[in-house]
Amino acid sequence: AKRQGRNTFQWYTEGLNKRVSGRVRLRNALQHAIDQQQFELHYQPQIQDTSGRILGFEALIRWHHPERGYILPAEFIGLAEDTGQIIPMSEWVLRTACRDNVRLNALGFEEYVMAVNVSPMQFQRANFVTGIVDTLKQTGLAAPLLELELTENILMESTTKAIEILQMLRRLGISIALDDFGTGFSSLSYLKYLPIDKIKIDRSFIREVISDHRDAAIVQGIISMANQLQLKVLAEGVETQAHYAYLSKKMCDIYQGYYFARPMPIDELITFLHENEAA
Ligand code: C2E
Ligand code: CA
Ligand code: CA
Ligand code: CA
Repeated sequence: AKRQGRNTFQWYTEGLNKRVSGRVRLRNALQHAIDQQQFELHYQPQIQDTSGRILGFEALIRWHHPERGYILPAEFIGLAEDTGQIIPMSEWVLRTACRDNVRLNALGFEEYVMAVNVSPMQFQRANFVTGIVDTLKQTGLAAPLLELELTENILMESTTKAIEILQMLRRLGISIALDDFGTGFSSLSYLKYLPIDKIKIDRSFIREVISDHRDAAIVQGIISMANQLQLKVLAEGVETQAHYAYLSKKMCDIYQGYYFARPMPIDELITFLHENEAA
């Protein structure tokens, strides 16, 4: 039994070493990707309930690996956050998303709002707001055409400081969406104080909203709360006509999901817009 225990232990350390060296390799590969500009943004439309109009897009990062193809953010965002590589990456994301939105405008489309995800480390930096102001200036994007998506966890870190930052951003005309709503463990009381514009209902609640009465109760609760707090409410992960019909009946404002459109590269998005919107 001892022997077996020992072997088990060795097996674990070997596994751990492999994991660690896997992380080191990934970190190096990530640095290479940053240097070689292997990242791309894919844009997913957000659709208004009443008009069916596209209001804007969420920018989602992909790593276009020369051998592995597209790698999704779940595989690298966490590590980038740990190593600090998320900072140059986020700067690139913001700049590119703003620039592409200006480009859409120049092509004669109506004005769309570009939503960009903000990482915890990025939000905590002292120069977060000035960095955004600089990027808007450099790219020529009007502040009201930028929305920042933040999770409740980011905002709970230090609430008074977070409120100050959000107030600054909103005074500039930038709008704020609370992402993955309902998945954190924070209390609801902060909704009273946080200067935000929109709540995004996490897609884990939408998936079985039709068949699971518990999900239905939560989703209806969030929608009615948002309406009464005069916040916009968006449902993520709308995958079927049935999802859409249900949510629309429950007075949801905005939808995002595969039922309407998948995230797509800018060129594909332009084609999509030409087909779907009168330019
Ligand atoms: P998120 O902010 O919740 O983004 C929405 C995710 O849902 C995206 O996954 C999107 O592709 C996916 N999605 C959209 N519609 C549907 C649907 O109908 N069904 C299903 N099952 N999924 C749908 P993605 O692109 O893999 O991104 C995962 C997460 O990575 C994002 O979650 C966000 O937290 C993070 N992320 C993505 N891009 C960035 C970025 O530029 N910066 C930072 N800091 N985080 C990012
Ligand atoms: Ca998001
Ligand atoms: Ca989300
Ligand atoms: Ca509403």
